[in-house]
Amino acid sequence: MKEAKLRHPVTRSEQMIAPLSRFRYGPAVHSQSIFPAYRPRRLRQSPALRRLVAETRLSVEQLVLPLFVCTGQKTRRPIAAMPGVFQLSIDELEREAQRTSELGVPAVLLFGLPATKNDRATGAYSRNGIVQQAVRRLKKAIPQLLVITDVCLCEYMSHGHCGLLEPGKKTGRVLNDPTLKLIAQTAASHAEAGADIVAPSDMMDGRVRAIREELDKSGFQETPILSYAAKFASGFYGPFREAADSAPQAGDRRSYQMDPANIREAMREIELDIAEGADLIMVKPAMPYLDVIAAARDRFDVPLAAYQVSGEYAMIEAAAQNGWIDRERVMMESLLGIRRAGAGVIVTYYAKEAARLLS
Ligand SMILES: [Zn+2]
Repeated sequence: MKEAKLRHPVTRSEQMIAPLSRFRYGPAVHSQSIFPAYRPRRLRQSPALRRLVAETRLSVEQLVLPLFVCTGQKTRRPIAAMPGVFQLSIDELEREAQRTSELGVPAVLLFGLPATKNDRATGAYSRNGIVQQAVRRLKKAIPQLLVITDVCLCEYMSHGHCGLLEPGKKTGRVLNDPTLKLIAQTAASHAEAGADIVAPSDMMDGRVRAIREELDKSGFQETPILSYAAKFASGFYGPFREAADSAPQAGDRRSYQMDPANIREAMREIELDIAEGADLIMVKPAMPYLDVIAAARDRFDVPLAAYQVSGEYAMIEAAAQNGWIDRERVMMESLLGIRRAGAGVIVTYYAKEAARLLS
């Protein structure tokens, strides 16, 4: 039997589809398939037909819900710019995580709000820190739920920066190498509490290597690292700063987070993190950086996550509250767009609601 000869390069699986490249997609229109022989509308006639030929699918197994844990009891403190998102005391966190798990969402990402802060961020790596307590509680109550911990110092620093500041000076310069030790200690203390994955978001150079070494040394060789490898200095984090109470008191994060202009540098950052031992990588924010997600999917073969950040969420919520957009539709479209760009894991405040709609 004669094998059919391919007229154009075959596209890889939808999972792998990334940037629009002529090589991968072939010519836009084939000579045999132009109107009237070919009518694209044929395949759009019914919901069933459209679903059958959908190139990208969103699944609840790919969603991660970020949660903010604070001290106290029976506390659900609303966050003004993020309707439906709360700072939760550990008892409330457990209930929220339980509901999340019941909806089929496989993982949560924890951020901590300690009772006190200082200029060494001791709350970040203390054995009984807020996140460490929360992890123990969640892993005991809901063992099947994956608990990912955000590893950073900003929420625990009195000055709000992600690392140690040059002592005695008012330069506001974040010291890289001395910070690494604290970041690594924080990650190890999360692993010790039972975290399934640790996720460094500080953007210090060399942090993944420092964390891997510390984890291995402490007996956590099996704990994976999800690196916020390409984290941009973004205005879209605005509402999160209130949620996590982590706004820098002076200056900004542009000396360690990435310049929004740079995609080649993002590839270099990701490459470095993989070389240092990252098991999964993340791009943050998502929507304004879909090209970075697509390029990363195309280039690297490790699992790729994207974080739909607070500002992305707040924009959809605000427009929906004004009746300017269809909230559910835009929410699902935004998530599908991130999937289509190539992210296999999506961190989103919509995880629970999307799960409900997907079931
Ligand atoms: Zn930080």
